[in-house]
Amino acid sequence: MSDTRIKEILYRNVFDSRGVETLEIDLRTRGGGYARVAAPFGAPGSRGEFEAPAYAPEGLAAMPALLDREIIPALVGLDANEQEKIDDLLVQIDGSTNFERIGGNTSSVLSIAVARAAADTKKIPLYKHLQGDTVFTLPTPLGNVIGGGAHSLGPAPDMQEHMVLPIGCKSVRQAIEINLKVHKEAGRLLEKRDIGFAGGMDDEDAWAANLNDVQALEVIEEAKKRIEDETGISIRMGLDLAADRLWNSIKNVYRYEREGIERSAAQQLEFVQSLMDRFDLVYVEDAFNSNDYDSFATLTSNAPSNCIICADDIYASNSLRTLVGINKKSAHAMIIKPNQVGTITGARRTALLAQSHGIDIIISNRSGETPDVSIADLGVAWNAIAIKAGVRGGGRIIKLNELIRIEQTEVNIQLADLNSLKI
Ligand code: PEP
Ligand code: CA
Repeated sequence: MSDTRIKEILYRNVFDSRGVETLEIDLRTRGGGYARVAAPFGAPGSRGEFEAPAYAPEGLAAMPALLDREIIPALVGLDANEQEKIDDLLVQIDGSTNFERIGGNTSSVLSIAVARAAADTKKIPLYKHLQGDTVFTLPTPLGNVIGGGAHSLGPAPDMQEHMVLPIGCKSVRQAIEINLKVHKEAGRLLEKRDIGFAGGMDDEDAWAANLNDVQALEVIEEAKKRIEDETGISIRMGLDLAADRLWNSIKNVYRYEREGIERSAAQQLEFVQSLMDRFDLVYVEDAFNSNDYDSFATLTSNAPSNCIICADDIYASNSLRTLVGINKKSAHAMIIKPNQVGTITGARRTALLAQSHGIDIIISNRSGETPDVSIADLGVAWNAIAIKAGVRGGGRIIKLNELIRIEQTEVNIQLADLNSLKI
């Protein structure tokens, strides 16, 4: 049996896809296992209010002292195979309830590096290391086609992500290809629809266009119809409103800057429902602010049976917040982002809690990304129904390509059953 005990941990600051400094870890085991993992980062204005802070309150500058004096000495010598023990130790070292002292990026990057190095020592893929011989499924990629909100500059749509989801593909490779085709076709249409369009992209490599949200959906609708005709694959549309950024808590309204419109919670509900009807949306994420479980619940109970209402910032991958949502029936599905909660074990516990109550999970990247592909493995190991990893661009396609490799290795693997979708 190879020796999975941790031999060495090195760290450095590198830059993410947005050019923001982030923490990178190299972790080696005595048995020759190696992992290099850098932490992704949400955008200011998009990161959830309830997720773990990324680093210590003093920022990255405070990390060397914490890593050198407290964290690395406590981890070296431990068995990287004992993920829960190490993750629980990280919680203990931090000493708060939400990684307020050492940061969720710090702990999650260490947690993922531990798992990857253990898998590497044993010469098995990360998803197998995490889940043994479970029957794995591949998440369907949700493709972000036109961006907006906190992920873009200038006169973009107010909502953050205007997406597509291919339905009934025979392989993940085909689903990835369909999303790429829609993205490309939408780019061609934008050349005509947006006079100043010069092929610019937002933080997540979705198109940056001078359109409002309805116009963005119209462009995607036309693009996806063309690709449906070309390929015979059915494609549906979705939104991440990232509504915390629209919410004005002083006036109690959702403010759509671009359109100069303010909507009360009731008007927001009506507006979102009208978009669901008009565009036959299959997916609606964060339609309300992160304190409004009740509006989420109303939207969920009113939604047609073939539309997934998804909770991201409101649940923040946090089991206590998720439990409140489960009891209130606030969503059919939830986003899991490991650095929102700080460890693989924390994210896994939340995912299991959700799934045991019939809530599907969707694994997600962050807007500031790194070359780490682990969310592809986590999505497979944990039976996520979908993955948000963009459509193209270095830090995004690398994760989608990892799913293609897993599909090649696991000959009997299927795309996850979108069981929230009664279609
Ligand atoms: C999101 O809101 O789902 C997202 C990926 O954005 P960020 O990483 O900026 O929070
Ligand atoms: Ca989101």
